[in-house]
Amino acid sequence: MATEKYRGLIVESKDLKDRDKLVSIYTLEKGLVRAIFRGVRGEKAKLKASKDIFTFGDFFIENTKGNNIVSQVDIIENFYPIRENLDKYYEACSIIDGAKKIMTEQNDPRLFLEIIKAMKYVCYENLKKNFILCKYLLNLFSGAGYPLNMTKCSSCGAEITGKKFFNYEIGEILCGNCRTYTSEELSPAVVNSLKIINNTEYDKLSTVKLSDENIKGVLELLIKNFQYRFGKEIFVVA
Ligand SMILES: [Zn+2]
Repeated sequence: MATEKYRGLIVESKDLKDRDKLVSIYTLEKGLVRAIFRGVRGEKAKLKASKDIFTFGDFFIENTKGNNIVSQVDIIENFYPIRENLDKYYEACSIIDGAKKIMTEQNDPRLFLEIIKAMKYVCYENLKKNFILCKYLLNLFSGAGYPLNMTKCSSCGAEITGKKFFNYEIGEILCGNCRTYTSEELSPAVVNSLKIINNTEYDKLSTVKLSDENIKGVLELLIKNFQYRFGKEIFVVA
């Protein structure tokens, strides 16, 4: 009976019969892995603290008669502050949900690190609600091959000085001459905020001041772009 060790984050956890839990673990080594915690909902269960969503650690999994059974977990981080604060909780749910909509059973170290990084910042920084989510979504788009060029028109390549338009069909920004009838005009405040978030690393976001309204405007655009790019809606509590 072979035991495999995976570094991963629990992204889903469901009750089964006999106090068992079925979890989906997003792992560094193998992408999404499903496994069962046996009897873990019992009062004295050894792995009681490791079975819930957001648990990040090293999971030891045995394959027994075709079932993946978790035999041991070395917790690295349980993101406790996220569980204690509703805004952080929902933002973390959006991070996980966005990743779940694009992850596969292939490993993707870049996506893995992106999720963990965003989770840590939501957990330990006290930024405005969904600010980190905006940064994370922009990074997901770049990672999937849809980076936003904030200065040049994606069609003619010219520097855009006047109004900017967003074309959701291709997920890019256009100038006034190249706009298509499906493009939407962006407000200067949203353009400016997008640019700032795009150009600021996670560890510097706390130095940036954006209004709730501007974060909301950026988030709306990113949610819509997510839907167009990946064909799925992302769960967000605005
Ligand atoms: Zn153009």
